[in-house]
Amino acid sequence: MGSNTESDAEKALGSRLDYDLMMAEEYILSDVEKNFILSCERGDLPGVKKILEEYQGTDKFNINCTDPMNRSALISAIENENFDLMVILLEHNIEVGDALLHAISEEYVEAVEELLQWEETNHKEGQPYSWEAVDRSKSTFTVDITPLILAAHRNNYEILKILLDRGATLPMPHDVKCGCDECVTSQMTDSLRHSQSRINAYRALSASSLIALSSRDPVLTAFQLSWELKRLQAMESEFRAEYTVR
Ligand SMILES: [Zn+2]
Repeated sequence: MGSNTESDAEKALGSRLDYDLMMAEEYILSDVEKNFILSCERGDLPGVKKILEEYQGTDKFNINCTDPMNRSALISAIENENFDLMVILLEHNIEVGDALLHAISEEYVEAVEELLQWEETNHKEGQPYSWEAVDRSKSTFTVDITPLILAAHRNNYEILKILLDRGATLPMPHDVKCGCDECVTSQMTDSLRHSQSRINAYRALSASSLIALSSRDPVLTAFQLSWELKRLQAMESEFRAEYTVR
């Protein structure tokens, strides 16, 4: 009985995905790619392996093809918490992109560890990390969202500890009135984004797990931060009011 229900559910999922895949306009997926995305979504590991063996390196198949929601097979493996599939895809050199950020966002610890390990093996000195090199128009995350900031937003102690142990550094937001080149340029190009990234950094710094892990005097740090946040609130609303008058 159980297996019957399962296959019905799979059929339903299959036809929905078939339809979604048909409606994808930007890039026409080949039949092999549609099959691949479907097999990944279903967690059909033998099916995925067969496609990779038969078609990787041919013009019928690109392992980095994406579904209509713009998710690569790797992102869908992370969202479905399918560790074995993730490993197979990494072994077949799928583009990693911002997969680590997705894993952190899902609070999927095993994937975070695996992807950090991958990064350590594959990162070249002086080059941006995979999640930094991603095409922004296709990314779910803005450029100021680092792994540590995202883990702090989730207030995930375990992931924060993993990142800090690996040498991730705390965000250091510049003062609201900072006049350094970086701030001036960023303020001029996109002042909303500039304010938003400061808010993102402070939200991360106020996460209790991060304070507990990184501060020698958590109580003092929490007080200092709340004072700083009040000051920031006043200054930023002043800025907004000015903006509205115009
Ligand atoms: Zn600055």
